[in-house]
Amino acid sequence: MKIPQNRLDREFYRHQKEYERKALEVLRSGWYVLGGEVKAFEEEFAAFVGTKYCVGLASGLDALWMSFRALGVKEGDEVIVQGNTYIASVMGITMNGAKPVFVEPNSYYNMDVDKIEERITKRTKAILVVHLYGQAAKMDKIVELCKKYQLFLVEDCAQSHGASFQGRMTGSFGEIGCFSFYPSKNIGGFGDGGAIVTNVESIYKEMRIMRNYGSEKRYYNKMVGTNSRLDEIQAGLLRVKLCHEKELTKERQDIARMYLTGICNESILLPEIEKGATSVWHQFVVRCKRRDELQKYLEKNGIGTIIHYPIPPHLAEAYEYLGFGEGDLPVTEEYGKEVLSLPMFSGMHTKEVEEVIEACNRFS
Ligand SMILES: *Cc1c(COP(=O)(O)O)cnc(C)c1O
Repeated sequence: MKIPQNRLDREFYRHQKEYERKALEVLRSGWYVLGGEVKAFEEEFAAFVGTKYCVGLASGLDALWMSFRALGVKEGDEVIVQGNTYIASVMGITMNGAKPVFVEPNSYYNMDVDKIEERITKRTKAILVVHLYGQAAKMDKIVELCKKYQLFLVEDCAQSHGASFQGRMTGSFGEIGCFSFYPSKNIGGFGDGGAIVTNVESIYKEMRIMRNYGSEKRYYNKMVGTNSRLDEIQAGLLRVKLCHEKELTKERQDIARMYLTGICNESILLPEIEKGATSVWHQFVVRCKRRDELQKYLEKNGIGTIIHYPIPPHLAEAYEYLGFGEGDLPVTEEYGKEVLSLPMFSGMHTKEVEEVIEACNRFS
């Protein structure tokens, strides 16, 4: 493979000195979990999103399930979520015993806001909006619905660090914004990591306790918590990465612009951006009726691609017990058969982008 779908080393080498300096600094400090680096990162990340608080956690999935737990979402409750998401979004709901209620996506791959209201019942407690592939969802309508029906709003921002809707950052619209810093995310660490952001002081306080065995003061446990602590090295390295966020996002937006202007093939449907929204292009996702053929063709031409995601959560073996079958979410299922993510990563050379464009245009 000459051009992989993703590679993480180029960005590391570009800022190698800064990362190595920070890693050594933490190693030499003698303090490795929940210390000064985590505290500083939490402050910097909250400022970046535009919220009052941030709590560093061990993963994006933890951010999701701990959020619903902090909001009191439990067995018998329903949470509305889009059908076409990474399965972690759904697990965040079901780990608390609550039921996911799926809404079909629109042509921007985000929750179709016109199909939410019909799914709201007496049991609905929250809406989990996923800013998929890096594009902010249509938040004005979703915020309005949450107000009207008194629902909690939780945002899955694992793919949308820095994306905004009408000038406001994803993660700052609802009660809680959930982030992942898994290495392949736009702001990714060098291992696992996650965080929640919030403006609600009580949620902030509860999360800080929950992540550390339910204890504020050592050996005094107020609740049955969990171990979901962000470590010092990850926090330190994430601080370095956060400093470069503008440059990293612009780089992805430049690659996307080249793809959007360069790819011209009747059988390849290009992504679009909704009015008011921005995308940080976590993935550049095209659609093609002969998707598997296109993927094989590109592979033969040395170009790696990935399908995000081939099996929608409602059809996953893990969720057999929910009782869904093929045909229950036709739009979601159609996308699952047609989407393909082209190469998109920090440090991708213009020549490589051009090679992908030419290969796409040759496909017939
Ligand atoms: C990556 C991802 C998650 C989970 O994050 P982890 O840190 O891997 O647990 C959740 N939701 C979405 C949409 C993701 O892309």
